[in-house]
Amino acid sequence: MAIERTISIIKPDAVAKDVIGQIYSRFENNGLRVIAAKMKHLSTKEAQDFYAVHKERPFFAALVEFMTSGPVMIQVLEGDNAVAKNRELMGATNPKEAAAGTIRADFAESIDANAVHGSDSAENAAIEIAYFFSQSEICSR
Ligand code: UDP
Repeated sequence: MAIERTISIIKPDAVAKDVIGQIYSRFENNGLRVIAAKMKHLSTKEAQDFYAVHKERPFFAALVEFMTSGPVMIQVLEGDNAVAKNRELMGATNPKEAAAGTIRADFAESIDANAVHGSDSAENAAIEIAYFFSQSEICSR
């Protein structure tokens, strides 16, 4: 397996629930090491740009409003197969369909307020990492 990096975002609903530590434990217990992190209250433009791929979707405006409703915790995770491993730990987009024991099954309320974001490919991970972090903010270990 290849060592990869991916972006994880703990969304405003999960930050408000004070489960950042519980989510970090899941990363660390599953071989995903936090190598960069920042808490940030996204501006409307940042949320729109980050989710630009969804701009034609009917849920886009609501998604941007939700992502700017409170602070998010953004981290770069590094480990074997990090992109797929993080997606596995997150569970399905709709928490009602997420496997038992996944982050979304345990902490998310609905398909729009679904606790976490994770890059869906190594290519998108590189773009998303560069969107939020400079090289000097990433502490590879
Ligand atoms: N989303 C939504 N309604 C939908 C589908 C998606 O509000 O019907 C939101 C949800 O927050 C999701 C995000 O848009 O996490 C991005 O959607 P995607 O299909 O990329 O899901 P993900 O990769 O986050 O599982």
